[in-house]
Amino acid sequence: MSDATQRTEISNLGEFGLIKRLSEKITVTQPTTIKGIGDDAAVLAKRDKLTVVTTDMLVEGVHFDLMYVPLKHLGYKSIVVNLSDVCAMNAVPTQVTVAIALSNRFSLEAVEELYDGMRAACKRYNVDLVGGDTTTSLKGLIICVTAIGEVEDGKQVYRSTANEGDLLCVTGDLGSAYLGLQMLEREKKIFLEDPNIKPDLENQQYIIGRQLKPEPRTDIVKWFADNNVLPTSMIDISDGLSSETLHLCDQSNLGCDVLEEKIPIADEARQQAFKFNFDPTLCALSGGEDYELLFTIKPEDEEKFKGSLDVTIIGKMTAKGSEPTLITRKGNRHKLIAQGWNAFGNEPTAS
Ligand code: ADP
Ligand code: MG
Repeated sequence: MSDATQRTEISNLGEFGLIKRLSEKITVTQPTTIKGIGDDAAVLAKRDKLTVVTTDMLVEGVHFDLMYVPLKHLGYKSIVVNLSDVCAMNAVPTQVTVAIALSNRFSLEAVEELYDGMRAACKRYNVDLVGGDTTTSLKGLIICVTAIGEVEDGKQVYRSTANEGDLLCVTGDLGSAYLGLQMLEREKKIFLEDPNIKPDLENQQYIIGRQLKPEPRTDIVKWFADNNVLPTSMIDISDGLSSETLHLCDQSNLGCDVLEEKIPIADEARQQAFKFNFDPTLCALSGGEDYELLFTIKPEDEEKFKGSLDVTIIGKMTAKGSEPTLITRKGNRHKLIAQGWNAFGNEPTAS
């Protein structure tokens, strides 16, 4: 960890000095990485598999708030959100590139914190950081990550290929990341009103962790390969269950029935939702940032999912022309709508 009191201006180092400092700690291990950081471009070996490529951009003030997001976590998350997209194609991530735009507010120590988080994510998921770009911004921090992955030809999974009667499945649990964000937002507000009040995160490590340190489901992609299961369609959950389910329906040209009682929600999230006067189901449907996988399987594959695997069947795909539907606990049918981020219309009421 860098000394928090130390501040080295990036202008003293220059762009090349900064790149040199950052790249010194970066090592590569993937067999397909021929040349990493240090030349005009990285060199990757030709593969016998398909290559998937995805990019995500994070903008300060739009996607993150440095008042409560530690830079190390931000670095970690900026890699994870891209690896999650690679997983959603049923592919294995292998390399990333990272472009950053920095205002003069950021010191060398701050950028090193950010890269500590990025390196931690790369190490954990066995991905090489092979290049990027560094530039200045007039205001704030922008991080743009591109991830590269590989998948055997024929094993790639799209959003558009679900069939009528397929079972709709989700990994992990949903809604926690949104509730963690609400918790952090509440504490920020209290802090801005009175900096002497200590943050009260009510020991909600799980939901805060789900917001600050999400993980990509590379384990599920591996499980598919090991168990010879190919989902019929797949997407990762960045914007909430409703929105992603509608993407699968839309692109596969089908409807669906989602059973409210089956939607997996952690106890801690459920309790915090009640404290905020939120409907836990709505948090799962519209919250976002859980980075779980949503996929469909053939009904005959259901057997293979029995056991300890962290997957829940939440519904099924219905005929073309039928509406994407949420069936409530009481058996009422509601049209599934994507309310998206922050559609709750009310602030959490502090309890
Ligand atoms: P160029 O002028 O050709 O764009 P740069 O000086 O920007 O070259 O980059 C030199 C090397 O450092 C390249 O390998 C590039 O990919 C890498 N690089 C630049 N910025 C970053 C960064 N923020 N993170 C990781 N690698 C970087
Ligand atoms: Mg450059």
